[in-house]
Amino acid sequence: MISLVVVGGAGRMGRAIAEAAAGAGDLTVRACVVRAAETRASDPAGDGPVWGSDLAAVARPGDVVIEFSSPAAAVATAKICAEQGLPLVSGTTGLDADAESGIRAAATRVPVLRAANFSIGVLALRRALDAVLTALPGWDLEIVERHHRGKVDAPSGTALELARRARTQRGWGEETVRNGRSGRTGPRPDAEIGLHSLRGGSWIGDHAVVFAGAGEWVELRHVAQDRGAFAHGVLRAARFVADAAPGLYTLDDVIGTGDP
Ligand code: NAD
Repeated sequence: MISLVVVGGAGRMGRAIAEAAAGAGDLTVRACVVRAAETRASDPAGDGPVWGSDLAAVARPGDVVIEFSSPAAAVATAKICAEQGLPLVSGTTGLDADAESGIRAAATRVPVLRAANFSIGVLALRRALDAVLTALPGWDLEIVERHHRGKVDAPSGTALELARRARTQRGWGEETVRNGRSGRTGPRPDAEIGLHSLRGGSWIGDHAVVFAGAGEWVELRHVAQDRGAFAHGVLRAARFVADAAPGLYTLDDVIGTGDP
């Protein structure tokens, strides 16, 4: 049985991961780390997870840590995992470059699997994107993402990752990724990827990559209807890091082509 500690255990993703783990059979959420205000009493009968607000105090050797919380907590969690030798699955988005390098630093000492999107469908979309980029080299490319009104970062980590992948394949610099078109006066340059973020209601996660040609267009789109879409990928990642050597991994290391 793989023992999990979920940082952000009271949040939307934390709850979805606990639900998926309960149905999996080979993993158990032993502890949840939450903000002090969210701590609750552990079940006196010993059923259910231990609740705490200090990962360093709650974690035990052999645990796998899963983190879906906030950028600051993501970096703090990675540091504690490195110090205590705990494998880490990290999914918080909206980290700046310094925070991402804080996570990478932990990967020199423990296995760290980091992904902006743990859905298997988005993994397939990323792979399909590579194929369409090759097939349609001159077409304009735009990315539209939709998320619930509570999401705190924009554009989404997934949209940024899709844009990074596309501009790298086309040999374009970071400045070619444009978030919205406020202030634009001229026509669209060839070397540009527009990102557009919709926020509202309860959309869980929706990403469309639109290729526009002369008189035709192609759209690759993924819609997450349930957070279980992410949680199942997270559990696969947890099984992977439980036995992995120290290093920085992605979902591509866990799930091969044609391996749903
Ligand atoms: P949420 O706001 O519902 O939950 C986050 C939880 O983390 C909250 O309960 C919050 O109080 C808690 N938290 C914040 N700081 C903490 C700390 N220092 N210690 C312990 N707990 C802390 O958000 P969510 O929808 O669950 O998303 C969490 C993060 O995961 C966001 O960055 C989101 O964009 C990202 N996300 C990633 C994926 C993916 O596949 N990689 C999928 C969905 C969401």
